[in-house]
Amino acid sequence: MSLDHRLTPEHEELRRTVEAFAHDVVAPKIGEFYERHEFPYDIVREMGRMGLFGLPFPEEYGGMGGDYLALCLAIEELARVDSSVAITLEAGVSLGAMPIFRFGTEEQRRRWLPALCSGEALGAFGLTEPDCGSDAGGTRTTAVRDGGDGGDWVINGTKSFITNSGTDITGLITVTAVTGRKPDGSPLISTIVVPAGTPGLTVAPGYSKVGWNASDTRELSFVDVRVPASHLLGEEGRGYAQFLRILDEGRIAIAAMATGLAQGCLDESLSYAATRTAFGRPIGDNQVIEFKLADMATRAYTARIAWRDAASRLLAGESFKTEAAMAKLHASDVAVTNAREATQIHGGYGFMNEYPVARMWRDAKILEIGEGTSEVQRMLIARHLKAA
Ligand SMILES: Cc1cc2nc3c(=O)[nH]c(=O)nc-3n(C[C@H](O)[C@H](O)[C@H](O)COP(=O)(O)OP(=O)(O)OC[C@H]3O[C@@H](n4cnc5c(N)ncnc54)[C@H](O)[C@@H]3O)c2cc1C
Repeated sequence: MSLDHRLTPEHEELRRTVEAFAHDVVAPKIGEFYERHEFPYDIVREMGRMGLFGLPFPEEYGGMGGDYLALCLAIEELARVDSSVAITLEAGVSLGAMPIFRFGTEEQRRRWLPALCSGEALGAFGLTEPDCGSDAGGTRTTAVRDGGDGGDWVINGTKSFITNSGTDITGLITVTAVTGRKPDGSPLISTIVVPAGTPGLTVAPGYSKVGWNASDTRELSFVDVRVPASHLLGEEGRGYAQFLRILDEGRIAIAAMATGLAQGCLDESLSYAATRTAFGRPIGDNQVIEFKLADMATRAYTARIAWRDAASRLLAGESFKTEAAMAKLHASDVAVTNAREATQIHGGYGFMNEYPVARMWRDAKILEIGEGTSEVQRMLIARHLKAA
């Protein structure tokens, strides 16, 4: 068990590079995209050129040859400035490309990963449906083989809230679908790759969201969507286990994102408290504000330690599922609390959208919901405690 969470020089260099990019390129522009509910194509293209979408993948597939820790470091630094670009990266890599890398054949990897790694194409993961999110075993979307073994898959159903699924550069959506029944009647769930633009796939207009307004989230409907048999990822009927694995990892990435948002709230509050005066002195000279800042820093620090610990277990090949759930549960709570405190420190200006903390406040809440709600994390942790 590794408890050394200091970064290697390579990881630290990556962190600094993304920190500078977020500060110099994302921060000056993103507020306007957010207000217009517009996807920031130029920023995402630049992230692609930097290799961020290929961070954890081997070079032979167009990746950077890094690891999951590297991806999470980049996500944390982006979220420190803006969560829409951070979730675009997280969903594109951890949900979009990772299932192909983890479960795809060599041919599938070579076919789809290079464009996803370069950021020329974005990947999406379609698990949630109108009637099932937390209880993803209740999937209703179906995929049947036309003409028996070796025939095309024909997919019917609806997926809700799918990130990256309706941009101009969306390349593919990996969907979960019921492909049969076990002898006891329970569903056999499989994952199938559906390229964007496949006939019968309808992408709804973007939702009107509380936050993440410069990211792309859509409802998708599938009516007799036909893809070749070769688009099945991994073994038929293994889809449930596959998405559990993808979500376990993804929770580390969402915890890193929540840590970034919590740190961003502290960054903004520190500088505001030093310059805003009331009663003839900077508000930051009041101990009550100093204590808020100290608590915000402590929360961001513990959230960071938690996700880095889960990531180091993942890299070491150790079990990490419970630690990932704890990291996500804790970091998302920290993000919501720091966002509330940052808004408070900014007073009325904190309620104005032109201030980054207003955006952070709106972006924080979804961290307690996406990729497994806080209740689901508690269920996973409690199950582990009972089994131990
Ligand atoms: C902006 C956004 C982006 C998203 N991106 C994606 C994506 O890219 N791909 C994708 O597949 N999904 C995506 N989602 C969906 C997201 O993962 C789900 O919303 C989430 O998993 C919760 O599912 P639900 O909304 O159906 O809530 P429900 O499962 O209906 O839960 C409602 C409430 O009931 C609670 N609850 C449910 N069961 C229990 C229980 N047994 N015990 C106690 N409490 C319980 C939940 O914790 C929650 O508080 C996204 C959602 C949003 C809002």
